[in-house]
Amino acid sequence: MELQSIKKIGVKTIPLLNKLNIFTPKDLIDYYPYRYIVYKPTHLKDAVEDSVVTVLATVESTPKISYIRRNFNSLNFKALASERIINVSIFNRGFLYSKLEVGKNITLIGKYDQKKNRFIANDIKLSWMSNLKIEPIYHVVKGLKNSQIHDFIAEAISKEETIDYIPKSFIESYKFIDKKQALQWIHFPKNVNEIKQARMRLIYEEFFLFMLKINYLKLQSKKVKGIQKSFDLKQIQAFVHALPFSLTSDQKKAMQEVLKDLKSDAKMNRLIQGDVGSGKTVIATIAMYATFLGGFQSALMAPTEILATQHYENIKHLLEPFHVQVALLVGSLKKKEHNEIVKALSEGKIDVLIGTHALISQDVTFKNLGLVVTDEQHRFGVNQRSNLQNKGKLPDVIYMSATPIPRTYALTIYQDMATSSIKTKPSGRKEIQTFVKKESDLKSILQHVYEEIKKGHQIYVVAPSILENETSNDVLNLKKNFDVAFNGKVKTGILHGKLKAQEKEEIIRLFQENEIKILIATTVIEVGVDVHNATMILIFNAEMFGLATLHQLRGRVGRNDLQSFCYLISNTDTERLKVLEASNDGFYISEQDFLMRKEGDLFGTKQSGDLFFKIGDIKKDFKILMQTKKDSEQFLESREVEELKYKAILKDIEIVD
Ligand code: ADP
Ligand code: MG
Repeated sequence: MELQSIKKIGVKTIPLLNKLNIFTPKDLIDYYPYRYIVYKPTHLKDAVEDSVVTVLATVESTPKISYIRRNFNSLNFKALASERIINVSIFNRGFLYSKLEVGKNITLIGKYDQKKNRFIANDIKLSWMSNLKIEPIYHVVKGLKNSQIHDFIAEAISKEETIDYIPKSFIESYKFIDKKQALQWIHFPKNVNEIKQARMRLIYEEFFLFMLKINYLKLQSKKVKGIQKSFDLKQIQAFVHALPFSLTSDQKKAMQEVLKDLKSDAKMNRLIQGDVGSGKTVIATIAMYATFLGGFQSALMAPTEILATQHYENIKHLLEPFHVQVALLVGSLKKKEHNEIVKALSEGKIDVLIGTHALISQDVTFKNLGLVVTDEQHRFGVNQRSNLQNKGKLPDVIYMSATPIPRTYALTIYQDMATSSIKTKPSGRKEIQTFVKKESDLKSILQHVYEEIKKGHQIYVVAPSILENETSNDVLNLKKNFDVAFNGKVKTGILHGKLKAQEKEEIIRLFQENEIKILIATTVIEVGVDVHNATMILIFNAEMFGLATLHQLRGRVGRNDLQSFCYLISNTDTERLKVLEASNDGFYISEQDFLMRKEGDLFGTKQSGDLFFKIGDIKKDFKILMQTKKDSEQFLESREVEELKYKAILKDIEIVD
């Protein structure tokens, strides 16, 4: 079904929904609220100062509009609420004017000032709310209102047929509610219990399907034989010898493991994990060279264009002297360039292809793909993984992950893979010195910033958001403050997701060329920017980030033999942050992060970017994940797998022989 089939959706709305990754009515149904607001009507005498309350009222006087300035008006009227006549104001809702007739029953949501007897409403509902009302809140884009999305979903649910993917036996043993009921309750809950039941069931289903695919792939890859590659070890040694550094002991070990896998006829499925800068890409490059010597092509897929381009430049630099043809394929290429690469690739004139998910587009065909490398692989779904693999005849597969994955969790998600870990840092690197500081320490921190700049070094500054309000530590305010602090004498630049691709590239280039000394950014720098001259990173509102993310961010510095520094600036949560002060070991940190996870935080915000689950949260709902792991293994041995719906799912990810 198409989105147009929803009555309320017009041509203008479709691109907006597409921005939210909604392309079909089914996507709408799976577009879950990220939080809920619970309204419970209270008596005015219980209205605590400065907190938002919900009050039932009746309009007592015709509203007056006053225009405060351009694009800013207020609507003022008297209302009867909790046996009191109060003065109500609401801003920029002029359109409510005609609806607020005297005698109309309304619900006011906002703050009440007892002394002034004034109610500043941030919302007015045009009827009396029942005892309790729960409003689901969705992520929206400009031009689309929460209530619109809610209406679209209502219609989609009523029209769309739903398929229940939880096997009957589990529905019975866990007493899960019906799928349609669950969808109704997650989007239109009448009470908190409905949300809990719906969530439990939907999360279970999402994880179950995921684990079913993983377990199925694992069974499959055991059954099939891969490609045996033969190459001369001497040539590999010559390549390693030509590198401008010598490999660390962990790198050597990882290399041996990879080469052994390439030589064997079993299909390689290996995860190389290690901190940013630990030297994973070099190992993958050696594997690509061995694959080339064996007469096969390789592909490397990265999650962003910046990262793909960087890989391309580095790898090309290393491989070209050895007569390996390297090419880059990303979405922003012109049609002509794209076609040229695709043609050369199918003719076998390109040996190594590097790119984004553009690599899995339909028209890309390899002559003989022998190795697939994916970087930051948790950002790709199971289906995307197998789609790239299916472009070859059972190619070997390497995943590189810079998020050190705690063992417990790796056993679940990556259980179909062998692992190589790179823990040792390239020699000559000094440990990053990390300090947890309060905002009141800023003066001495700035002093330190200035000392580094005087030495010719560069600085990263990270903030959680682009612009919140006039007083927060966000990218735009920080730029202002740094410019004031250094009297405009130190060149600063900003980088965030809302900039155009071209603007981003320009800023990154200026930072790379040491024109910009201080780069102020959101976490977009987490992947992609590689400047060895940067020796310091300041992270504002560090309490807003997970430890693993902070460790990743910190990895932006310390990429040379200079002493580097990291300041975690936060007025709260210092206990947790001190884990980073004490350790530079990504594996230890991610394990701590995992242990400190919060479970069952029903109204909390779901972290976006956490894997690719729509409702489940791999940390908070870890118990459910473990259960589905067990259940899906059991299920794969059962006859029910033969049902059409499961066959269709597994077909989709099947590694074709
Ligand atoms: P990762 O992929 O783990 O982030 P890279 O392989 O990109 O790490 O390596 C990061 C940087 O360190 C690169 O500039 C690379 O050339 C360099 N490097 C890799 N291994 C070593 C080593 N053993 N000694 C010194 N430098 C190294
Ligand atoms: Mg890398």
